[in-house]
Amino acid sequence: MILEAKNISFSYGKKEVLKGVDFYLKDGDILSLLGKNGCGKTTLLKILLGICKSSGEIKLYGKDLKSYSRKDIAKLIAYIPQVHKIPFDYTVFDVVLMGRLPHIGLFSKYSQEDRDIALSSLKRVGMESFTQKIYSKISGGERQLVFIARAIAQDAKIIFMDEPINGLDYGNQIKFLKLLKDFQKEGYTFLKTTHYPDHALYASNRITMIKDGSIFKDGLLEELNEKSIERLYGVDVEIIQKNGYKFCIPTF
Ligand code: ADP
Repeated sequence: MILEAKNISFSYGKKEVLKGVDFYLKDGDILSLLGKNGCGKTTLLKILLGICKSSGEIKLYGKDLKSYSRKDIAKLIAYIPQVHKIPFDYTVFDVVLMGRLPHIGLFSKYSQEDRDIALSSLKRVGMESFTQKIYSKISGGERQLVFIARAIAQDAKIIFMDEPINGLDYGNQIKFLKLLKDFQKEGYTFLKTTHYPDHALYASNRITMIKDGSIFKDGLLEELNEKSIERLYGVDVEIIQKNGYKFCIPTF
């Protein structure tokens, strides 16, 4: 087990967001976290990264999360937030190189090896031609791919992604989901939030659904079915199957 959280509760001031949530992530999972807007998906990611402090117990590789430093967590888990604005005119290469920060000393500089890793990570996601472009001037979808490259350069085998599909055109959405599956085969583990049952059906092996501050469904992909989707979102759908893939279509 990579990550195991038990009885997690969290409030922003008086606003209770999560109530006694249990969560786990296994080696090699692509886990899709689903739930309505504002149900606490991002908050749960931040709790599991140690950014938000909750009650309950969280173990990362069997050790209390609190016993890890920020840098130690960053060596294990890369986080791609929903909005990743980088100030100043950093190049794409610089942004990916920043992924090496957890691996260098406080006053050390990047080594040639760090630069080589940054470049090969950009190549891995097919973005090497963007190396010298200014990050703030590329499209949202391109930024998403750059952040994946940065996560790879970080050398963390667990990647958390908050709505990674946002802003990607249709072709890039499919390429992106396929990329996740390729990385899964190479030993990466993903926890991602999504609003699209179709994407969860295509690219994940496990799902967790949050409703009213609690875990509403947690399990294998079969749990993402007509009944659970209707109860989660209040819409009627039908799951159809073609060429070995499942799709979710609304029934009006
Ligand atoms: P989701 O990712 O599922 O859309 P979030 O985890 O972002 O939900 O937010 C859960 C709830 O907590 C929402 O109602 C949101 O408005 C509230 N919330 C999120 N961040 C803060 C914050 N920093 N301060 C106060 N309330 C917050």
